[in-house]
Amino acid sequence: MAKLINHWIDGKMFERGAERTGDVFNPATGEVASQVALATPAIVDEAVASAWNASQTWRHASIAKRTKILFAFRQLVDRHTSELAKLLTLEHGKVTADANGEVQRGLEVIEFACGIADLSKGEYSENVSTEVDAYSIRQPLGVVAGITPFNFPAMVPMWMFPLAIACGNTFVLKPSERDPSAANFMAQLLTDAGLPPGVFNVVHGDKVAVDRLLTHPKVAAISFVGSTPIAQYIYETGTKHGKRVQALGGAKNHMIVLPDADMELAADAAVSAGYGSAGERCMAISMIVGVGSAADKLVPLLEERIAKLKVGDGLDATSEMGPLITKAHLDKVRGYVDAGVSEGAALVTDGRGLVAAGASSKGFFLGPCLFDHVKPNMSIYKDEIFGPVLSMTRVATYADAIELVNKNPYANGVAIFTNDGGAARKFQHEVEVGMVGINVPIPVPMAYYSFGGWKASLFGDHHIYGRDGVHFYTRTKAVTSRWPDPSNRGAGVNLGFPTNK
Ligand code: NAD
Repeated sequence: MAKLINHWIDGKMFERGAERTGDVFNPATGEVASQVALATPAIVDEAVASAWNASQTWRHASIAKRTKILFAFRQLVDRHTSELAKLLTLEHGKVTADANGEVQRGLEVIEFACGIADLSKGEYSENVSTEVDAYSIRQPLGVVAGITPFNFPAMVPMWMFPLAIACGNTFVLKPSERDPSAANFMAQLLTDAGLPPGVFNVVHGDKVAVDRLLTHPKVAAISFVGSTPIAQYIYETGTKHGKRVQALGGAKNHMIVLPDADMELAADAAVSAGYGSAGERCMAISMIVGVGSAADKLVPLLEERIAKLKVGDGLDATSEMGPLITKAHLDKVRGYVDAGVSEGAALVTDGRGLVAAGASSKGFFLGPCLFDHVKPNMSIYKDEIFGPVLSMTRVATYADAIELVNKNPYANGVAIFTNDGGAARKFQHEVEVGMVGINVPIPVPMAYYSFGGWKASLFGDHHIYGRDGVHFYTRTKAVTSRWPDPSNRGAGVNLGFPTNK
């Protein structure tokens, strides 16, 4: 019988069996590797109850205590990086180096959260009126939930829970049911770091679990990362039920290449950002916008690099690109390649016939595909494909390029490649996208900035992690206090509206 990946509630693995389960595959072999428990509403209620009880104590834990536990957790994640990365490769398929990179970027958020002492400081104004002081304090929200996608099973949860916990909240994580093991591994490390039971819980599941979290009266806030239609649903349902919600959605990231760019640099960047993690990144470059003569110069350089990419099992240290997450997703991405051909785009590199060297023929592999002459009305331009499919669209001028980008409903990441500082600066000012790279293809902000797109790539007011994360996971209270000088008591009754003197 396949291993059961169960929930983590109240500081330990859930002991009861599961009424409903889902298959978890090893994408490199195509085999079912384990079963994941799919929570019923009653199990979600148990997790929220545990988090609620824990929050009654955790909200009063000193900053020193919270920081100490987070620091211990940081050390444990660092020490166990390769084990965690291996879990990612086995369930997600990404290659080892990429999996290690994911853990590293998560660690940076934990490190940021260790600075909560400074980050959560309020403000103080003395003598706003005679013998009256005003100040603000930040307090936790209570129980907060995180709902996360398959493509970063360790990093995206770490965008959320270290800061949420640092701010004094308790957390219920609902990770992707397609690669659930990393969540339990992190739960164990948090427990080992000394986190009290109930402060961090994991419920595995699907829409049933998500819907209970969205409507549960004791869940104060929801952080979501996933596709745009679900992000919109989460935002609308969660806010309707009185919750604070930040819901990050999908993407279609353009890379504009001006004719003066360093073409070798641009080609390296486009191939790295287009095919890294088999294109299953919300910050992947999926569209290159070649301005003027740039496209003609770039296409052969891309082909040259793509021909050398090694696709294979992520555990093989020589593999540069692994398989897609599931057979259903592989079929969907292949369907887009077929559609691109029938809609008239030029398929310069066709990865559909790939045989991944040394890997199982049952793995969910697709070789890198490159399209040229893609037009904005084609489905491969309009939709987020989320696979190893890179497209080139050609425009005459910079103005055409920026118009194209700004018309797109998604606005997560964008990049420009140029050697003209003035052009780059103009672009940074004019482009309507949340995260911008200048000669950088995947501009994922550092932990001390915040991550978030605009338009259909983010529903809600706060970006994730960074200072926005602290603001999202706390609410401010403004206090006005009077401590009269002992020699000057008794101001007398005054029914007028308080004004400052
Ligand atoms: P998804 O939207 O299918 O799933 C995300 C989460 O929502 C999962 O936990 C899933 O169980 C849950 N879910 C799925 N369908 C649901 C439904 N009908 N009702 C309630 N909950 C539901 O996304 P995915 O396929 O796991 O991840 C890929 C997507 O995530 C891509 O669109 C990618 O761009 C996006 N993504 C965005 C960011 C970002 O920061 N903007 C980061 C990573 C991934």
